[in-house]
Amino acid sequence: MKLVEIDCPVCSCKKYKVVFPDTLGARPPVFGYKWVPEIRKMYRTVRCLACGHVYCSPRLENMYQYYKDVEDEGYLHNEPLRTETARNVIQTIQKFAPAGRLLDVGCSTGDFLQVAREYYQVEGLELSHWALEVAKHRGLTVHPTKLNQITGAHESFDIVTLWGVIEHLEYPKSELERVNRALKMDGIVCFWTGDVDSFYSKLLGSMWWYRLGQHIQFFSWKSMDHLMSDCGFTRVYKGVYPYVISFEYLGISLSRYFLIGRLAKILFSLAGLRKRRFVLRKSDEMFGIYRKVRRV
Ligand SMILES: [Zn+2]
Repeated sequence: MKLVEIDCPVCSCKKYKVVFPDTLGARPPVFGYKWVPEIRKMYRTVRCLACGHVYCSPRLENMYQYYKDVEDEGYLHNEPLRTETARNVIQTIQKFAPAGRLLDVGCSTGDFLQVAREYYQVEGLELSHWALEVAKHRGLTVHPTKLNQITGAHESFDIVTLWGVIEHLEYPKSELERVNRALKMDGIVCFWTGDVDSFYSKLLGSMWWYRLGQHIQFFSWKSMDHLMSDCGFTRVYKGVYPYVISFEYLGISLSRYFLIGRLAKILFSLAGLRKRRFVLRKSDEMFGIYRKVRRV
């Protein structure tokens, strides 16, 4: 397998500084979210000296092909949490686009679409065969294609959403240009991803939870504004993703990292908090909405 050098995916600059060395080598990373220690092995991470975007280079090409085999029965376990999160997110989206056609890119098993269909006419795109089948069983319209392979979506959507997707994209600029073409004028694109310039990212460094081998783009509000502006969008909302989580899930997540996390896991179960849910508003979870203001 051959790795390729990548120019900055946001501004095409060739100058960078190395942020973290390669720990993966010339092979694909682990895809999906089933926890195994190898999931954290990554390609070299660099920061663009011109726009500040952080990304992986060199890396494998055509990483998209690996998503079709991703299966994760354990993912279904947290569906109630994602459904509640979707309800919170839609309250915000409603303020900018109260009705119309919505396309969810990388919709997985369709938890977001299941809630969104109460407000909008919905469709999804999903590469994992397993997730696609789960979504179809729920009666959702989901296509097994990448964004740039969809046909007949010319200025036909009011809303395009990318939840935890943009950090996986090999060429986010061309994908967002495609989003621009899929959206009607004044349509909106909504996303959630990690903020690489956040307090948590700086505090945790190579241990930051977004640092997984399958994540190859690390945005900040600055680099996101830059990319979105080049792709014909202007920001209308800057927020924090209203992540609904249970103490049980928080304990499991933390226990992967720290001794204190393992203690937290025990404490949460002793205190009978396991099933208790709450909204976790972490400052490193960027939730943004941009409006299409020109064609590209
Ligand atoms: Zn750049």
